[in-house]
Amino acid sequence: MSTHRLTAPAPGWTATTDVVVVGSGVAGLTVALNVRKAGLRAMVVTKAMLDDGSTRWAQGGIAAALGEGDTPEQHLDDTLVAGAGLCDEDAVRTLVTEGPDAVRRLIATGAAFDRGADGEVLLTREGGHHRNRIAHAGGDATGAEISRALVAAVRTDPQIELIEHALVLDLLTDSEGHAAGLTLHVMGEGARDGVGAVRARAVVLATGGMGQVFSATTNPAVSTGDGVALALRAGAAVTDLEFVQFHPTVLWLGPEAEGQQPLVSEAVRGEGAHLVDADGVRFMVGQHELAELAPRDIVAKAITRRMREQSAEHMYLDGRHFGAEMWERRFPTILASCRTHGIDPVTEPIPVAPAAHYASGGVRTDRHGRTSVPGLYACGEVACTGVHGANRLASNSLLEGLVFAERIAADLAERHLAGELPERTVDVEAARAAHPVPLPASEARAEIQRLMSRGAGVLRSAASMAGTAAGLGLIAEQAYANAAEEKPADPRVETWEAANLLLVATALVAAAAQRAETRGCHWREDFPERDDAVWRRHLITTLAATGGPVSTPEEQ
Ligand SMILES: Cc1cc2nc3c(=O)[nH]c(=O)nc-3n(C[C@H](O)[C@H](O)[C@H](O)COP(=O)(O)OP(=O)(O)OC[C@H]3O[C@@H](n4cnc5c(N)ncnc54)[C@H](O)[C@@H]3O)c2cc1C
Repeated sequence: MSTHRLTAPAPGWTATTDVVVVGSGVAGLTVALNVRKAGLRAMVVTKAMLDDGSTRWAQGGIAAALGEGDTPEQHLDDTLVAGAGLCDEDAVRTLVTEGPDAVRRLIATGAAFDRGADGEVLLTREGGHHRNRIAHAGGDATGAEISRALVAAVRTDPQIELIEHALVLDLLTDSEGHAAGLTLHVMGEGARDGVGAVRARAVVLATGGMGQVFSATTNPAVSTGDGVALALRAGAAVTDLEFVQFHPTVLWLGPEAEGQQPLVSEAVRGEGAHLVDADGVRFMVGQHELAELAPRDIVAKAITRRMREQSAEHMYLDGRHFGAEMWERRFPTILASCRTHGIDPVTEPIPVAPAAHYASGGVRTDRHGRTSVPGLYACGEVACTGVHGANRLASNSLLEGLVFAERIAADLAERHLAGELPERTVDVEAARAAHPVPLPASEARAEIQRLMSRGAGVLRSAASMAGTAAGLGLIAEQAYANAAEEKPADPRVETWEAANLLLVATALVAAAAQRAETRGCHWREDFPERDDAVWRRHLITTLAATGGPVSTPEEQ
């Protein structure tokens, strides 16, 4: 049951559906399409336009054992290695076994993947994969094609109600503590303008990542960790928040660049581009058997180390040997985005540096996408199903969104058939009793990002994170003080997002500070070794009665 909620006006309107899905990326739209097959009505609520999440930006592709000689077992092995001892093996097995058919169903829904002259889906390789198993579309525009196909499919079904420009605020529960809907703010006109409520039999979070807690990220502006923050306020357990994957090769746009920055996909290295330092020397050779195609954390750390050694702000990715024809055919999006920023990869090496890319942790779920709050499900990047462990294997995330979205729909269908998915009545008393969290000023967003990038980025230490935690604490104190002095920040999209970012950042730093070891994509300068004896376990984070996040090591 929610003990906390965002400060917001009382709902002025109510709508009803069977399953309300928050988010319209690969995960959310797949849930909506599949619950419809069970005869349930679905409502998709999304913060901006339907295709405004990370899904549309995915370049490299989607991993699945589709190629000759490849097997789910080999995909499992590569995933477990990347996850550095913290994957849930059963969840990974589910992913890799159900993955190939899930991709075939995605193709049947209308997604057109690149094919060779023989008509077979082309497969490439990415970091950490020992086989060619990455299916791609439009060369390097895989996510855009998946998004296009799924958006087209949901638009043709009149029983899927789509609400764009609607920011979901908090979960509503019934008197038994079962999810019964949510509150949201619609930026529109007409009957559903402003804060309202949606009543539903079940709620699915598919809100994507939280890259915007850092100042340099590949994630779009909507990736503010809203789903994790909502889940925490609703009393759900979240886990593995400290494992943020920093993509090693993001186009470097200058020291002052902030927000979403263009990715130079791993597939560019997969096709043979080399990482070179300021002197033009390849530095990944000899560091790992896969050299430039080592898992992302290894490459990001190696780049960061070399940047420090050379006091450089970036390294270079050299793909000049591809030639113009290959750049244009295989990587048209990356080529265009580099050229927009004045770099021509055909004739010069690309300046690159690591940036926050993927949240391996999130709202804890079982293999059916169920969270610890009954009736609340999560899938896609917002969820922690256990498949990524301490580090995500490249191109496993679109697949995870797809597979676990289908599993949620299957679980809901089964419960519906068994009569276990009744209509719910919102417990109005409980909703009112939840403590309203004061909102920080909208300017807090940039300050949170700066604090996080400075103290909790690729390189972390107890001292750096203590500085970040103190800074975040001051922002929270200021919000409380302003509310107490009756000059609170206006409840609006910017301040709600700032409150979500603040909660998620605080929880992330608390977990990262507690994990006194280096593992996967979490690198501690003061604890450079992996410590299996103490730390081969998850940190489970929940919200204390005071509103602060508390991380507890999982029992072994
Ligand atoms: C540049 C880039 C390249 C990538 N490349 C790859 C790749 O090649 N292969 C791969 O597997 N993965 C890749 N990833 C990761 C992958 O794209 C994402 O993990 C995946 O698309 C997440 O899908 P999702 O459905 O969970 O969330 P998203 O696609 O991010 O969608 C989240 C949705 O939730 C909505 N939302 C958020 N908060 C709220 C709220 N409060 N109220 C209402 N709606 C809300 C958003 O508007 C959005 O519609 C890449 C990511 C990026 C950023």
